[in-house]
Amino acid sequence: MQHFPIFLDLADRKVVIAGSGAFALAKLRLLLKTEARLHLFAEAPEADLEATATAHGVTLIRRAPEAADLTGAALAYGAHGDAEADARLARLARAAGVLVNVVDNLEGSDFITPAIVDRDPVTIAIGTEGAAPVLARALKTDLEERLPQGLGPLARAGKLFRARAEALPQGRARRDFWADYYFRTGPEVLAEAGEELLDHALEALLREHLNAEPEPGRVDLVGAGPGDPELMTLKARRLLDSADVVIHDRLVPAAILELARREAEFIAVGKEGFGPSTPQDEINAHMIRHAAAGLRVVRLKGGDASVFGRLGEETEALTEAGIDWSVTPGITAASAAAAAIGASLTRRGRNSDLRLLTAQDVQGYADHDWRALARPGAVAAIYMGKRAARFVQGRLIMHSADADTPVTLVENVSRPDQRIVTATLGDLPATLAEAAFTGPVITLFGLAPAKAAAVLPALLEEFA
Ligand code: SAH
Repeated sequence: MQHFPIFLDLADRKVVIAGSGAFALAKLRLLLKTEARLHLFAEAPEADLEATATAHGVTLIRRAPEAADLTGAALAYGAHGDAEADARLARLARAAGVLVNVVDNLEGSDFITPAIVDRDPVTIAIGTEGAAPVLARALKTDLEERLPQGLGPLARAGKLFRARAEALPQGRARRDFWADYYFRTGPEVLAEAGEELLDHALEALLREHLNAEPEPGRVDLVGAGPGDPELMTLKARRLLDSADVVIHDRLVPAAILELARREAEFIAVGKEGFGPSTPQDEINAHMIRHAAAGLRVVRLKGGDASVFGRLGEETEALTEAGIDWSVTPGITAASAAAAAIGASLTRRGRNSDLRLLTAQDVQGYADHDWRALARPGAVAAIYMGKRAARFVQGRLIMHSADADTPVTLVENVSRPDQRIVTATLGDLPATLAEAAFTGPVITLFGLAPAKAAAVLPALLEEFA
């Protein structure tokens, strides 16, 4: 992030705009939304510019700015549309220690003005660091359509009520109150009774919340899917959005954790590859301690929580501790990997059962019904199988599996660095060695990609 977004208090601050034409007018219109004292320097102002400045009581100075004009300014805009005049203004501004923006000149600017969605006091600023103004505009249009106009009045009334809401204890109680106001009561009152009654509604709602019993803490065990945030369920997103504490596996990528509230506490547990792991008792203790303190805990697991995720051990510990819990399913790595190669996990006439197995068990390599797996047409998804490949291969060949059986390895399923590697049972160990995977890998035994690089075209299509 080269440009850091902030919201600058311009109330009663001097802002200099220099230019006489359309560029200056665009900046003037934008800055008229603020409470700044605008000083417009225009040697020969065009009619619209002059009319707008006069209509809004903007100080119009009919000459080029001089050094002294910038003293004490918060910001300066070079909007001449003339490189030389703008560079001169930039020099004056910098000499006075004033941040300057030159219209359409990223390199010559100290800051950039974002695309703005204005529901004052709710303001959304969109920036692309100059990389894609088209994208910024598309996002703006999208948000403009999506955000109700009523957001402004709701937030204004809410802002005035902030001090009163401090009667509620900080944290969950206060957040629940505001969520209730912004997403339920507020919009209803606004639609039915109008802005004037929002204040009464807030008072009534506050009394209701002050009298309410506090909700007990709980743990929701949530499958986060294989990594792509789009592959999460709506329920998983909603739970994550209201969590006070997120206890997550290391498999869960940052893009998903970012969906949680920024104030939430994050605790990384579990293990990475064959690295050190958090003991199960410790994970249970984290969950129980936070839920017992009245917090909403989301226990976020990669893929589906019930597939090689020690779900049972955790729910038993919670039940024993008398803590309420629920499970939200997620897309397991096997499903996502099958989708990535466009293959079906079951198929009429080929396989009517499907095994999800792990090559790694508590005692080392797991024992399985190798004979069934070695039969033609058998399909299995092997989790945590990177190191166990040679063992699995040996067992299957020993039970007379065909060495030509297709095997597809998918690393980092659904993530930007996803990699699909095809092999056969015969060359599996060699292929694995050559691929030198560093991320999580799922092995689809008995399946070949239905089309080459099935995922890439879909990705390209999205950006077309
Ligand atoms: N609960 C998870 C599995 C946890 S076991 C699920 O349902 O997917 C961890 C193993 O899952 C990894 O060793 C790997 O074999 C597989 N895995 C999980 N996420 C993966 C991903 N994004 N890409 C490839 N394999 C993955």
